[in-house]
Amino acid sequence: MSSVLDTVDLSRTPTRLLIGGEWCESASGKRFATLNPATEEVLLEVAEAGAAEVDAAVDAAQAALRKGPWATMTGAERGRILHRLAALMRERSEELVLLESIDAGKPLAATRRMDLPAAIDCLEYYAGWADKITGEVVPTRRDALTYIHRVPVGVVGAIVPWNFPLMNAVWKVAPALACGCTVVLKPAELTPLSALWLGRAAIEAGLPAGVLNIVPGFGAGAGAALVSHPDIDKIAFTGSPQTGQFIMRAAAEHITHIGLELGGKSPCVVFADADLEAAIRQTSSGSFFNAGQVCSAATRVIVEDSIHDAFVEGLAKRAKTLRLGNPLDSATTMGPVISQRQMERILGYIDAGRKEGAQAVCGGHRVGNAGYFIEPTVFAGVGKTMKIAQEEIFGPVVSVMRFSDEEQALNLANGTAYSLAAAVWTRNIDRGHRMSHQLNAGTVWVNTYGPTDTRLPWGGMGGQSGIGRDLGRAAIDNYTEQKTVWLQTRA
Ligand code: ADP
Repeated sequence: MSSVLDTVDLSRTPTRLLIGGEWCESASGKRFATLNPATEEVLLEVAEAGAAEVDAAVDAAQAALRKGPWATMTGAERGRILHRLAALMRERSEELVLLESIDAGKPLAATRRMDLPAAIDCLEYYAGWADKITGEVVPTRRDALTYIHRVPVGVVGAIVPWNFPLMNAVWKVAPALACGCTVVLKPAELTPLSALWLGRAAIEAGLPAGVLNIVPGFGAGAGAALVSHPDIDKIAFTGSPQTGQFIMRAAAEHITHIGLELGGKSPCVVFADADLEAAIRQTSSGSFFNAGQVCSAATRVIVEDSIHDAFVEGLAKRAKTLRLGNPLDSATTMGPVISQRQMERILGYIDAGRKEGAQAVCGGHRVGNAGYFIEPTVFAGVGKTMKIAQEEIFGPVVSVMRFSDEEQALNLANGTAYSLAAAVWTRNIDRGHRMSHQLNAGTVWVNTYGPTDTRLPWGGMGGQSGIGRDLGRAAIDNYTEQKTVWLQTRA
């Protein structure tokens, strides 16, 4: 595969830390490489934040929160800055699409269709909120004016993963800024580039110094320093359940607010009366979009007996039509997985599936030996307690199980420690409605798979999927505190 560096000019991409409005190296001078997962070549080396840089970033964020232009700005002014940032992203979207695609291994067309528009929409939505965050007057006594208003929660430590680097960052940053908070953002070590791009564009859009600080680095270094920092008021995290547990413990030390968007093992229940062709098509994209590296990927497909074989055959047929390849090639419909480590983890799960007796109907192997490509893989004959039915794989691997009645379907669907999303396919509206109530998931899709929208809350119902909600009005609550004022008057 030819080098992307022959065709893509990365010389203008920021690679330093953004702290207090200044671009700086870390005190240690350390840098780390970010790779193109399709070729394993180094794209750029980025300054690595450690505890000292996180301290400086939190100080800058605290200062910007309390004094200076941000603290006194109106909501309308904050909204205008967010709108300008969204406009810059729109104007330069091709540059950003390219950067995100090569850093995260996403097919260009998918980044163009999904990641970028979703990030821009999110910014514009919260730009609209910035001057509409209102309080409430609550009548208590005649000799008092008692009211509640909403104040920024404070300095937000945002830690995001590598599967949707830009979109996940914006999901935290946009509502936090709309609410008047300041932010220290730690992008994932595997995909730091789009966050740095965002930081530069934010400055250009007029965001005052110190309001958005960006500290690329590793989880055990910058990440751990950020979540245990006494001056962080809220930790907004998307990532693995293991890291979520670590963060929850760390947050206990200073009783910091947390929001945790963690894993998924989402079930997709297909009844015999479903539109089979649509169910197959959308389950395939739900399972293999972003090479399955999606917290809400359709990883467990639970199919009614009478259509089981036809479904499995259709899904495998569709999986085989996916074109695995370099994200920059316009024919590519599925890119690599993010890293050697992830690839090995996924191949380990595929092995475990075979050993536990499931049948790989298609796929099941690495492709080539440069770049982290794994074939889209469909397992049939999966039992409820198998590893591939219980654990999040975060790769292009889907497990199909069968059921004979609704109760059994529900039992299978709700039979994991996850609770992020679920789908049900049926033409019976009563059953669809009933199932949507009974499925244990923060989002339930009926006769579709995967759509999300900035306006709708997103998050798990506890357990390994985490707590709290991103997006929608819920995020405004996340990044504000209610403050009660009791103003005594003489009646
Ligand atoms: P994955 O294993 O899929 O990479 P992680 O939860 O490890 O998922 O990563 C998500 C984000 O959490 C990344 O930005 C990563 O650097 C960060 N992270 C990992 N470990 C820690 C930690 N101990 N403290 C804070 N952040 C962490």
